[in-house]
Amino acid sequence: MEKLAMFGGTFNPIHNGHLHLVEGFRSRLGFQRVLFIPSRVPPHKAAPDLADAVHRLAMCRLAAEPAGFEVSDLELHREGPSYTVDTLHQLHLMYPGTQLYLIMGADMFLSLEQWYRFEELFQLAQLCAAPRDDNNRQELLSYAKRLQSMGARTHVEDLPLLPVSSTIIRKRIRQGKPISDLVPRAVEHYIMEHHLYGGN
Ligand code: ATP
Repeated sequence: MEKLAMFGGTFNPIHNGHLHLVEGFRSRLGFQRVLFIPSRVPPHKAAPDLADAVHRLAMCRLAAEPAGFEVSDLELHREGPSYTVDTLHQLHLMYPGTQLYLIMGADMFLSLEQWYRFEELFQLAQLCAAPRDDNNRQELLSYAKRLQSMGARTHVEDLPLLPVSSTIIRKRIRQGKPISDLVPRAVEHYIMEHHLYGGN
């Protein structure tokens, strides 16, 4: 059965940590397709430094496509809040007969029980999680056990850490510091060209 992984996020902006996480899971689990899905942020939730969806989508394409990943704008076009459970239902309709996987970093995984209709996610996709910026693999493994007891199928992988966040990147740009070690070159150029995040 074909394996398709979904990777959602604000991607404000996309960075090497995102790519590294997804590449790690692709090489270990052998996905045939990976979809990066930037989330729609409702206007009342938008932070002042949230780049327009058009820019976040464009940067995802610049970063993900050369690495053989796909980018989908399906959440950006959907009215109302972006719930992962709705996206997974949509993906099942779009790709029948496919096994779905949901990739996330530790912070998202550990908050899973706060997600909208989280128990439904367990039927829709297998969950893939990796540590993010500290060595919390044990915490992830015990949380995975808890979710498994509720019916989840989980993959907690000990991928090498790449402690990058979009927050750090936005801060560096505001401070006029280089970001070339944190994002693909094409994304860095895009940010500069469009003066995103308070850059000159
Ligand atoms: P921000 O700093 O603005 O909160 P972010 O860097 O956390 O952003 P998101 O777009 O919110 O990026 O993250 C999307 C997904 O990528 C989440 O599941 C998050 O846990 C994961 N992720 C982000 N950065 C890393 C990283 N360096 N290593 C592993 N996973 C990551």
